[in-house]
Amino acid sequence: MNKWVTEGLHGDLRTSYGIKKVLFDNQTEHQNLVIYENEIYGRIMALDGVTQVTERDEFIYHEMLAHVPILAHGAVQRVLIIGGGDGGMLEEVLKHKSVEKVTMVEIDRTVIDLSKEHLPMICGNAFEDPRLDLVITDGCQFVENTSEKYDVIIVDSTDPIGPGEVLFTNNFYTRCKACLRKGGVLVTQNGVPFHQASELKSTLRYFRPIFAEATCYMASVPTYVGGAMAFGWGTDQQGLKDISLDVLEARFRRAQIDTGYYTPEVHRAAFALPGYVQRLVA
Ligand code: SAM
Repeated sequence: MNKWVTEGLHGDLRTSYGIKKVLFDNQTEHQNLVIYENEIYGRIMALDGVTQVTERDEFIYHEMLAHVPILAHGAVQRVLIIGGGDGGMLEEVLKHKSVEKVTMVEIDRTVIDLSKEHLPMICGNAFEDPRLDLVITDGCQFVENTSEKYDVIIVDSTDPIGPGEVLFTNNFYTRCKACLRKGGVLVTQNGVPFHQASELKSTLRYFRPIFAEATCYMASVPTYVGGAMAFGWGTDQQGLKDISLDVLEARFRRAQIDTGYYTPEVHRAAFALPGYVQRLVA
């Protein structure tokens, strides 16, 4: 008989995954980290009991948080990733030849070490890329203290619990905005609004006064239960979310990136929001 791990992120709702094999289960300096194998999703990493990434569906999340802002911007050289310890986001960002430098700020070195060891399908050789500047510290402290500027900032964080809580604050978003180059884009992991409505609402409440264009876009990631998840979108390039299909197709062709979920059509459609989400971001 299978052993089961049960996740309870959303109040009275529980999601259970069968465990074929546990690869790691221990407390890091910052959180509880478990990596195990599941028949359907392959290797899964959970932090403090919440699924972070799975081999099977990680491409959806990582492609949509990386390629949407980078291709919309069109001339990205410098990228800041906050969080993202599994390396999947880094791998997608590095696929863009225009990117000269990626600073990745992760609070928990153990997540990186264990991902390199047990999740090579997700991070590939990304941590060995010479364009990477890896900083082990709290993302909020980093943006408070750095004088560097970026074309795209990607917040690939845990949910607003434990170490991730500071990455959902007004202070953090305001500092991120100050770290953007002219025309830069900030994108954020904002959970599944069907279950985590207040999280998206609060992020957009902070985005609206500081960005000319503040909204979210969506994608369905099977392991994040409850329908499509939302990614916060903030930029001073008004109208960037409505970039034309022709422009996106040309940039995508030029980038020569092989994707499993991202297409220019999906990119544009991701900004079409259902009524219940429109009300949260208004
Ligand atoms: N796809 C994911 C999800 O489920 O939302 C996010 C994955 S990634 C593993 C999240 C990373 O954010 C973790 O490695 C965690 O250590 C990191 N993190 C959490 N709080 C942080 C902080 N304050 N500064 C930097 N990194 C942080």
